[in-house]
Amino acid sequence: MKTISTPTKIWLSSPHMGGTERKYVDEAFDTNWIAPLGPNVNAFEHSIKTQLGNSVHVAALSSGTAAIHLGLEILGVGRGDEVLCQSFTFSASANPILYLGAEPVFVDSETDTWNMSPVLLREAIESRIKEHKKPKAIIAVHLYGMPYKVAEIKAVANEFQIPVLEDSAEALGSTYNGVSCGTFGDIGILSFNGNKIITTSGGGALVSKNKSYTEKAIFLATQARDEAPHYQHSHVGYNYRMSNVLAGIGRGQMEVLSDRVDARRANHQFYKDTLNDFQEITFLDEPEGYFSNRWLSCILTNTYEMREKLRLTLLDENIESRPLWKPLHLQPIFSSHKQFMDGTSEALFEKGLCLPSGSNLTQEDLERVVTTIKNVLS
Ligand SMILES: *Cc1c(COP(=O)(O)O)cnc(C)c1O
Repeated sequence: MKTISTPTKIWLSSPHMGGTERKYVDEAFDTNWIAPLGPNVNAFEHSIKTQLGNSVHVAALSSGTAAIHLGLEILGVGRGDEVLCQSFTFSASANPILYLGAEPVFVDSETDTWNMSPVLLREAIESRIKEHKKPKAIIAVHLYGMPYKVAEIKAVANEFQIPVLEDSAEALGSTYNGVSCGTFGDIGILSFNGNKIITTSGGGALVSKNKSYTEKAIFLATQARDEAPHYQHSHVGYNYRMSNVLAGIGRGQMEVLSDRVDARRANHQFYKDTLNDFQEITFLDEPEGYFSNRWLSCILTNTYEMREKLRLTLLDENIESRPLWKPLHLQPIFSSHKQFMDGTSEALFEKGLCLPSGSNLTQEDLERVVTTIKNVLS
């Protein structure tokens, strides 16, 4: 009898420790800083600030979603307000709009970066203003680590005086004209969830050049306590601060961030070099001045059927891949909200596939992925 062994699983994007994380976690235990504050939180915030170029202040939080929630509240979003949001993104970009009782208005992508179209953004704003409903904020996303059209989006936002919440959850280590993603919005947010380019297992940060914003974020994230010897509250608060234990993981991860970016970019380059000859597959190139951390390596296939054939064949080989994000305007929870679409994100969703992209993939892993894809194509 012949036994067929399943090949080892290749994950889409799995955590990749650098080695020093445990030292900082041990430090937290040794000094009994087992709390949502302490030396690791301070040092982690400092290392993020340094990474982003020192022009920003940083508040470490329990998740990227929490950072978006606080960010929108700080920008003044409340019940009944409208918030413009890139449709082509993960649901966490938009869920906090609903937490606040506000209304998302979805904006489609353009094909150069797959992110928010500045043209449709303008159209959406003008149309909403005509209805006497000026949007309160814009959520733009650097999806898969590719910077959005920062200058164009900023120009529209400035013209109409609408603040930008920059969802940089997938783009730590990416730059636009040499400047770090996370620093372009009135408020930027980062995520350190388990699948992101670096991780604290779960965590996030709110980033801003405006110190009063990060101070307010920390105030709201720690139950909104007024100055008083007793517990005194005149605002609704949240419990959103980052744990000092988890910030220890983050400190170690920040030491290897640039290696992680290099490794993910090398994955993308390998896929591109080895699959370039196949007309059925295309890649998203970086426009001039754009530097993507290539958080996930994505391909576009020529048809939906080809996308599915590739995905299912990879699955048979125990290789995880995933369709691109399903646009939010097509999600049951969001589909009844206003939208300004031209079909771009829907087409990307139909034909796009994320390939294994972890910084811990071996050359052998990458070759297994490519061989499987080539077998389908030829
Ligand atoms: C991961 C992610 C978030 C949410 O971050 P969490 O830390 O998981 O809460 C928000 N937006 C985008 C685009 C993401 O990929």
